[in-house]
Amino acid sequence: MNLGLFSGKKKYATISVSSVEKEQPKNNEGSKEEREKELDKQQLWDKCTNCNEIIYIKDVKENNQICPKCSHYFRMSAAERIELLIDEGTFVEEDSKITSANPLNFPGYTEKLRSTREKTGLNDAVISGTGKINGIEVSIGVMDFSFMGGSMGAVVGEKLTRAIERGLEKKLPVVIVSTSGGARMHEGINSLMQMAKTSAALDKLRENGIPFISIPVNPTTGGVTASFAMLGDVIITEPKALIGFAGPRVIEQTIKQKLPEGFQKAEFLLEHGMVDIIAKREDLKNVVYRVVKNLTNS
Ligand SMILES: [Zn+2]
Repeated sequence: MNLGLFSGKKKYATISVSSVEKEQPKNNEGSKEEREKELDKQQLWDKCTNCNEIIYIKDVKENNQICPKCSHYFRMSAAERIELLIDEGTFVEEDSKITSANPLNFPGYTEKLRSTREKTGLNDAVISGTGKINGIEVSIGVMDFSFMGGSMGAVVGEKLTRAIERGLEKKLPVVIVSTSGGARMHEGINSLMQMAKTSAALDKLRENGIPFISIPVNPTTGGVTASFAMLGDVIITEPKALIGFAGPRVIEQTIKQKLPEGFQKAEFLLEHGMVDIIAKREDLKNVVYRVVKNLTNS
């Protein structure tokens, strides 16, 4: 099944067009067509959350969600990541129908899931399947931060475990792009168990000599960092990505010490051996390709 959900969610603050183009006549009384045109116009421009410059959304989208003014990396949706990494027309989605129940009857969770599904067009915080990277077939899982902060509940754990097992069964390298706030509290212990489950599946992959490329991107924290994201044979990230277990503020408050400059950022982690490669977004696909090619002799 091909993905029909390449509709990136906006990751930057919106400004109303009326503050930019004050002369614009009001179209409230106009025809439906005119009102639609006006609406379209309102979606054209945004403000970069990093440099505060007004940016043209189309430019940002065409530039892999990178600010054309300051090169700030905005978050990419899982669908955009797949588009970035996987050869066009080769992605086959798997396990798309798995959805979360509310095992603990956590108040409000069922409604929260429903509204998030509607808002994001996703069933949960990961898309998985198989596809090719410059011709090499891989089993891939990509997390999406816009679905409840990329939190890992039973569905995320199950889909990623299946993606790993698919790699095992079909002898395909496994690639996981993670971005996550950590465990999904609403699922309690069921959520924490996903750490052991994904790690155990990766151990089988290792025993069988199949490579696992982990790509934690900004931000990856909590139980995801504490399990599969740090278990890659090769760990690749993007410039300035925040990767850690607890956030820097929590650590500072706990140890009552100031943390070193750039702590938990990609460059600091590379220097201290926590990640292996920092790849610019535009190079990411080719870097992953070269790593996979080297590890599989394909
Ligand atoms: Zn910017």
